[in-house]
Amino acid sequence: MNKKYKKCDIIKYDVFLVDIDGVVWRGREPISDNIEGLKRLIKLGKEVFFVTNNSTRSRTVYSVLLEKLGITVDENHIITSGYASVLWLSKIKPNSLTYILGEEGLAEEAVKAGLKLVTRSEALSGSAEAVIVGLDRNLTYSKLNAAYKAVVDGAIFIASNKDPVFPLEKGSKAPGAGAIVAALEACLGREPDFVAGKPNPWMVEIAVGKKVPTGTVIIGDRLDTDILMANLAGVDSILVLTGVTSVEQVNRVEEEIRPTCVLQSIKESFD
Ligand SMILES: [Mg+2]
Repeated sequence: MNKKYKKCDIIKYDVFLVDIDGVVWRGREPISDNIEGLKRLIKLGKEVFFVTNNSTRSRTVYSVLLEKLGITVDENHIITSGYASVLWLSKIKPNSLTYILGEEGLAEEAVKAGLKLVTRSEALSGSAEAVIVGLDRNLTYSKLNAAYKAVVDGAIFIASNKDPVFPLEKGSKAPGAGAIVAALEACLGREPDFVAGKPNPWMVEIAVGKKVPTGTVIIGDRLDTDILMANLAGVDSILVLTGVTSVEQVNRVEEEIRPTCVLQSIKESFD
């Protein structure tokens, strides 16, 4: 299939940073070949972290959902872009008055990190010190306006991630947090102060610390997030073809986003 890539020797790695959308699920549909492979890695005593740009669910919720698939992982081994955003903000400005343009999971992480949430009307009246933008499937003009006004009034502008789309069932896609961030960039005329999620190696640092242990590998389905983050962090990477990337794309990829190796699924590496 991929003559340009060497065979994946997955067993040689000890620490796995695994993406979720397009690896564990496509929309609500579990990807059984990857799930089976992950269970085998855990059984072998490998350390597995889940690293996702999806901010709509909290780490607690992910831990419960993964358990239902037979993957037992505590929330300290789950890093969402929402958690990465609130962690960064809490470090530079603890207990910030924060306007959340996002869903429940992001708000939950913010509160847990000690940030003080402000309402839309408080954001409009200039009381927000920070705005965090994640995927919001109930986006309205009024929410966008509140985030815009808050940043114009001096709030720190944080994007959970800039993924333009995310994968759903049967190969379809839907607009991602990046589409909402782009709307704000358009009216503000500038980029966010910080983009917490992949490809920022900040996600890797949260999982394993600044000095990445040898034997660490990142598994994901996206070249411009999972694989780019791995390359920026100087870590090996495995692209799985279960999500948004096709074989054709991976065969003509430039150096910056070239994975170490490519698999149809994680299970394939055990066959
Ligand atoms: Mg993915």
